[in-house]
Amino acid sequence: QYAKTHDQPVAFFSPQFHAGITWQLDIEQGLKHAIETEALEIYLQPKLDLTSHRILSYEALVRWNHAEHGFISPAAFIPVAERTMLGQTLDRYVLSAVIRLIANCREQGLEEPVIAVNMTAKHFSDTSLPVFIQELLDTHGVSANKLQLEITEGIVMKLRRTTTRVLDELRSLGIEISLDDFGTGYSSLSYLQQLYVHELKIDKVFIDDLESVRGATLVRSIIAIGKVSGLRIVAEGIETEEQVNVLRSMNCDLGQGYFFAKPQPGRRLLGLDAPPLSH
Ligand code: C2E
Ligand code: MG
Ligand code: MG
Ligand code: MG
Repeated sequence: QYAKTHDQPVAFFSPQFHAGITWQLDIEQGLKHAIETEALEIYLQPKLDLTSHRILSYEALVRWNHAEHGFISPAAFIPVAERTMLGQTLDRYVLSAVIRLIANCREQGLEEPVIAVNMTAKHFSDTSLPVFIQELLDTHGVSANKLQLEITEGIVMKLRRTTTRVLDELRSLGIEISLDDFGTGYSSLSYLQQLYVHELKIDKVFIDDLESVRGATLVRSIIAIGKVSGLRIVAEGIETEEQVNVLRSMNCDLGQGYFFAKPQPGRRLLGLDAPPLSH
């Protein structure tokens, strides 16, 4: 116990520490309730072709409007959810909501969008995931190439036999896998070849540093190596036109960020009619 916390001994008996525990339980209970009552909303942020500025796909970003605490960012509750089975429950909630959104588009005569869903790390050691997704797709008549899954380097680093099998099965269903937050983890670039992912998303921290010579060189190298591995490259967190121009000149394929569009309520962004009032 002490050995584990010795790097932050001050927090051990501090009020903040206890507040932290309460906050965690609060989040855990609240999130469970929010999932049960469908109080989470799916926002979407477009991923655009950097040359034509056309929207090629969207990323689903979950939003929780908490009765007491107001809007809570996924950055705050996902890490808590990931410590328990709630991570999987949340993933499945979002997967189901996203596949229904795609089916709704078809039903209302709109083009079916491609949507990426963020997945928590633990979920990739759950061998029932591919079947769960296949059944959702079948039920709603949505084809697998409309769904992408974003995974982080953390998942990849822990590539165990189960993880690899789950990834293989998802890929053979025809689902594209995207490697999120690339560069922030500990994986080496040589890892990319063994991964067989389809897309690589360069983390915002690198895009923020694009003006410096060092930052630009780093991004150029990531793009080059990603391309050699046959991956589609996405830059995350683009906020300025200057960044767009630099990234395009570096042959980066797609861009995502506030410069183009902030995440917005999914139904509205896709141009869907309001949902029926009763469930
Ligand atoms: P992420 O998947 O890397 O998503 C990118 C985050 O950056 C999102 O934050 C997005 O709103 C934000 N962002 C996009 N463009 C810009 C920009 O130009 N400037 C700035 N400052 N930020 C930008 P968000 O929505 O708060 O999500 C945070 C993280 O929470 C996500 O990182 C993802 O890892 C996780 N997450 C979100 N939704 C889900 C979900 O449904 N399931 C799971 N498992 N994780 C999720
Ligand atoms: Mg993501
Ligand atoms: Mg990311
Ligand atoms: Mg992130």
